[in-house]
Amino acid sequence: MIIKDEQGMLAAGKQLALKLKAGMIVFLEGDLGAGKTTLVRGVLQGLGHQGAVKSPTYNLVEPYIINDQPVFHFDLYRVKDAEELEYMGIRDYFNNESICFVEWPVNGGDLLTEPDLLIKINIYGTERELLISNYKDS
Ligand code: ADP
Ligand code: MG
Repeated sequence: MIIKDEQGMLAAGKQLALKLKAGMIVFLEGDLGAGKTTLVRGVLQGLGHQGAVKSPTYNLVEPYIINDQPVFHFDLYRVKDAEELEYMGIRDYFNNESICFVEWPVNGGDLLTEPDLLIKINIYGTERELLISNYKDS
């Protein structure tokens, strides 16, 4: 799918929100500035979140509760050693009740469970190519 601009990415996130269920894990791959956080912002808005959406680059995780649904947005860009994630108790976030988004899952190593969806974003100037795969089926 080709995404023309930021608005398009937000719209794609809102579409994605319709497919999410409690317990799902979504990995987001793509370079800095690809639009991973923008896509999550669209998802959160689609789920009914009204407030701001911060990039969790410095805190590693931003928690949300949207209409009783816990959603955790991780950004592991700054993680150098997966042990940091062990200390934050990352495993506890991945459970049957939560929906988890993970930017830079490559930095999570073996500590991350396999995702339900793998989303890859490629940059072509101002356009983005969005590739979504059902990881567990592939
Ligand atoms: P990431 O989380 O992947 O590092 P962000 O979502 O934080 O990326 O930032 C993406 C940036 O790219 C934003 O500043 C956004 O306005 C810009 N942008 C330009 N074109 C697009 C597009 N087609 N889709 C998404 N973002 C775009
Ligand atoms: Mg980001």
